[in-house]
Amino acid sequence: MISRILVTGGAGFLGSHLCERLVDEGHDVICLDNFFTSQKSNVSHLLKRPNFELLRHDITLPIFLEVDQIYNLACPAAPGHYQFNPIKTMKTSVVGIINMLGIAKRCGARLLQASTSEVYGDPDVHPQPESYRGNVNPIGPRACYDEGKRAAETLCMDYVRSNNVDARLVRIFNTYGPRMHPYDGRVVSNFIRQAINNEPITIFGDGSQTRSFCYRDDLVEAIIRMMNVPQGFPGPVNIGNQGEFTIRELAELVLEQVGGDSKLIEKPLPMDDPTRRRPDISLAKEKLGWEPQTSLRDGLAQTIEWFRSIDLGDYRPPTP
Ligand code: NAD
Ligand code: UDP
Repeated sequence: MISRILVTGGAGFLGSHLCERLVDEGHDVICLDNFFTSQKSNVSHLLKRPNFELLRHDITLPIFLEVDQIYNLACPAAPGHYQFNPIKTMKTSVVGIINMLGIAKRCGARLLQASTSEVYGDPDVHPQPESYRGNVNPIGPRACYDEGKRAAETLCMDYVRSNNVDARLVRIFNTYGPRMHPYDGRVVSNFIRQAINNEPITIFGDGSQTRSFCYRDDLVEAIIRMMNVPQGFPGPVNIGNQGEFTIRELAELVLEQVGGDSKLIEKPLPMDDPTRRRPDISLAKEKLGWEPQTSLRDGLAQTIEWFRSIDLGDYRPPTP
């Protein structure tokens, strides 16, 4: 069945791939974005498609649209981006979800909220199941993002309980792939860009902290499945890859795949940087019949190929 679908943050890294997939499936897609951390080039190839529409708008402001489904992805996601204007980041998560839940309530639309593994903070339970309540520093430099996403989860569940809104929560773990902003400061984009340019690869701390990296195609598949399960399972559900790598291992893998003669150098570890992170995805397997298909090696190869194909001069550095 064809649906009218709103994708907020639709011009971003994940949003643009989601829009592409939904347009290909024949849905009427409205991509809403204020281009804070993205560029129109991510979706310009979709503008000629009759079932795609691009709206410049900020979700902290109300908007009236008639839709059947809302994927709420609008929010800066990289630490350097969300810390650029932390108050705006919190407003985007909190005021933004209130505006989107308002549309969902008025139209009877389904809403999927892109939450994050950051709701677990620096976890003292490992790997992290959805039942773990997290260890977030509410006053640290990451809190604008972590607490904003936690508050957005609260609002979604209150709308589910009080207004019978059909909202769903996915907690996304580190995801990478083509169309990541090359200057977003995230570890995958930094390491690939540095290796391609034969620059030093910047390891923050001693590189023993871990992350689990999910390829963008696996992620998009999971969130579409979550949007389309019958009402009654709002989640939250973890979406991520169970492979766990130290940041030093990632640097070595990138260097091996890119080649070149970059050196690994250590830089100070940012405050509140989580020491380890790996999703327990039992629930996603059970409820969505989903698990990642792409290995880190294969996903990195495709991401490196894309980084080699772009002109870095077309992208703004990480101070939007
Ligand atoms: P991204 O920065 O590429 O995309 C976010 C998009 O939202 C951008 O296009 C940006 O311009 C837009 N945006 C930001 N503030 C807005 C506002 N106030 N109004 C309208 N648009 C706004 O990041 P991404 O990696 O594609 O992340 C997409 C979503 O997934 C985010 O909500 C993020 O928190 C979540 N997420 C991503 C990851 C990941 O590893 N990529 C992990 C966990 C959660
Ligand atoms: N990191 C790093 N070098 C970089 C960028 C990031 O060592 O150039 C580290 C960062 O300190 C963190 C991990 O890589 O431990 C993942 O960082 P990212 O910003 O990609 O995501 P997040 O911390 O939000 O998981």
